[in-house]
Amino acid sequence: MSEQNKILVINAGSSSIKFQLFNAINNDKQPHFTILCKGLVERIAIKNSNFIIEIANGDNFIKHEVTKDIADHVIGAQTVIDALIEYKVINNFDDIKRIGHRMVHGGQKFNNSIVIDEKVIAGIKACIPLAPLHNPPALKGLSSFQKLVPHAKHVAVFDTSFHSTIPEEKYLYSVPYDWYKTYEVRRYGFHGTSYRYILDKLTNILNKPKDKINAIICHLGNGASICAIKNGKSFNTSMGLTPLDGLIMGSRSGIIDPSIHGYMCNVKAEATIETITNDLNKSSGLLGISGHSSDLRDVLASSNDKNHKYHLQSQLAIKMFVQRIANYIVQYGNDLDSNIDALVFTAGIGENSAIIRQLVIEEIKVFTLKLVTNKNNDKYNDYLEISDKQSEVPIFKIRTNEELMICQDTYNLLKNI
Ligand code: ADP
Repeated sequence: MSEQNKILVINAGSSSIKFQLFNAINNDKQPHFTILCKGLVERIAIKNSNFIIEIANGDNFIKHEVTKDIADHVIGAQTVIDALIEYKVINNFDDIKRIGHRMVHGGQKFNNSIVIDEKVIAGIKACIPLAPLHNPPALKGLSSFQKLVPHAKHVAVFDTSFHSTIPEEKYLYSVPYDWYKTYEVRRYGFHGTSYRYILDKLTNILNKPKDKINAIICHLGNGASICAIKNGKSFNTSMGLTPLDGLIMGSRSGIIDPSIHGYMCNVKAEATIETITNDLNKSSGLLGISGHSSDLRDVLASSNDKNHKYHLQSQLAIKMFVQRIANYIVQYGNDLDSNIDALVFTAGIGENSAIIRQLVIEEIKVFTLKLVTNKNNDKYNDYLEISDKQSEVPIFKIRTNEELMICQDTYNLLKNI
């Protein structure tokens, strides 16, 4: 007999709650997860909040959308639960016994996903100085669902925990050692849930045990990072103390000379550490260089349109974006002793932009990498190998699924409730 269990996955941001509801069907101890619905509450506490729920219907989803004012995260969470009942995805609140939450920063405290109790909440709160933009809204999401579904058990899944295996010489910054010892200044890395998912996928695709896999994974979304995986473990990654480090992103600068901060505070009228940090997070990257947009699709369009006001800046933004990725791939190739089982492109840009994949590969000169143009351009569902046989490293585009990973962790940690 098969046992069915619903698992709700929550990703709460400052003005949004993304959710997915899975069903775990446990046949012969091998759980199989199917998605029942997904959706999003956006513009929380901003006028004209939007609620979207998409209900699974075979291979497709039926979408429902409502615009109404949603004043805070508790009302957002209530909207989610009410809709699950209204659209008959669940019968009542009691159907939800397990909720998994995406937490961005677990600092040095959390090396694995964990069942949430008061001590864990205190630990996540203690990490707020490391992730002031991310941990507070995730905690708000957690407390909202705790309030509304008091009988449910909750699990925290951290973006940072996958990177706890990075060796000391790679996670330390060359700053006074006391900054690390006293203030925990070090590289933490993010997107770990996506990297774990891709690594699991690679074990199947390559038919190789996880602990034998060496790979370079490019998670290129609005936020973007790269990870070198050595023997199935994170060995290096481009994001650092915060998600601002590393690659050029939608609106984040990535790595810069650290003295730019102080210099700008001195020369720009009314600039403070906070305003400059804000500019580096929200007005830099593709947006900052192109002057046009943080969305790669917009920047590609303006870079291709000679008459566009930001044509040349957009071309420059793409060139810089691609070169930075290529340079990290080369560096990580060296970290992996050129012994690389797979180079993977994933997330919004990595999964969908054939031109960015092509430009990155063309930019790499120290390895012989070759794409098959048709395969690079082809539609696909789950993953596709896109390299030619002559390529020194097999190259893949793989669709990531962080929510499924959170669902699996939640299921595994709460198996016996
Ligand atoms: P995040 O989760 O970090 O917000 P996503 O992984 O959703 O970001 O990626 C968003 C980025 O993916 C945007 O820059 C968007 O332009 C890009 N993107 C999405 N679809 C495509 C596509 N078909 N072609 C090119 N870029 C795309």
